Amino acid sequence: MRIKKKIRAIVGLTIIFIPFFCFALNIREEIKERKIPTYLIENNSYISLKSLLKILGAEDSWGRVEDRIFIKHQDIEIKFKINSTQVFLDKKVEYLGVPVKEVEGEILIPVDDFDRILSGVSVASSVSKEPSSKEETIVTKNKSFIILIDPGHGGSDVGATGYYGLKEKDVNLDIAKRMREYLEKELKGNTSVKIYMTREEDVYVSLPERVQMAKDIRADVFFSIHTNSSLSRSPDANGFETYYPGVKEDLAFLPSSPPSEVLDEEVKGDTSLLNILNDLNTTSAVDESRILADFVQERLAERLLTPDRGTRRRGFYVLRYTPMPAILTEIGFLCNPNVELNLRDAEVRQAIAEALAKGLLDYLKFRNVI
Ligand SMILES: [Zn+2]
Repeated sequence: MRIKKKIRAIVGLTIIFIPFFCFALNIREEIKERKIPTYLIENNSYISLKSLLKILGAEDSWGRVEDRIFIKHQDIEIKFKINSTQVFLDKKVEYLGVPVKEVEGEILIPVDDFDRILSGVSVASSVSKEPSSKEETIVTKNKSFIILIDPGHGGSDVGATGYYGLKEKDVNLDIAKRMREYLEKELKGNTSVKIYMTREEDVYVSLPERVQMAKDIRADVFFSIHTNSSLSRSPDANGFETYYPGVKEDLAFLPSSPPSEVLDEEVKGDTSLLNILNDLNTTSAVDESRILADFVQERLAERLLTPDRGTRRRGFYVLRYTPMPAILTEIGFLCNPNVELNLRDAEVRQAIAEALAKGLLDYLKFRNVI
């Protein structure tokens, strides 16, 4: 950096003749030199988007569309998304160790990751640097980790119905409530985790409403609970499975939902729009969903004697259109009369709820949330 300092000294003397220089970008160095405030969250250092734009000299060449940030820096387009770990340098994808965050309206950029990613990019460095007068490190409060439990169906949408008349919507809601209760008991005193439900009673909630709620409350995990039925309502159908999305789609206007989750795979959006948005999609959210699904399936396998049908990819509406990690678990086949009788037993429902909760807790531990 000695050369750099020398150049800057020369620039200082000959400002009229050399107003502008290009240097290899070193964000950490820039933070030090410009005395840019950093924010420490869970031991990771962040700077505000404004500071990054200042470092890049891109204060006038950036844009934001919902959660997506676009920066035009010299000839390179830098794109990333809040809560995502993907960064696009033109068409090249880079991955952050921790996602870009938004805390109290401030977009926060992880320093180390961007330092690594942008090290090959040059930066316009002019003499008009204005170091701020004070150096400060602000420790922000950690954002709560928000879990949204989604009991499938409800109200006029009954879901599957058993041979003896047990309704899926009731089983899903009861298990969801037991799961929440168990989680709250286990997380007692841990105020950083908040649990919400898409419905608390027997009411109809459309699939777009469920997705919208997940977006509105900025859920970190979407956890949907269902009870299965085979298409032919076979009394021999048996087992439990947990689904994760194959792809995430982010649409400003959610497509209307099919009446039941069975047909969700057929839902397709406007593909031209999707093509534009897909490259910013969070494959990390898909990966995280799979990890969560594995934990949950493993815990169910510990408690249930029915066949383990494994974790599977599927484009259920609520998995596809929620931006966060999302799973949908089918706890058993209601069309199987034996399963139906078991599911009438509150102890069985409690055991299933606890298994689901334990799977989620395993994931929270794995991700150092608790
Ligand atoms: Zn269902």
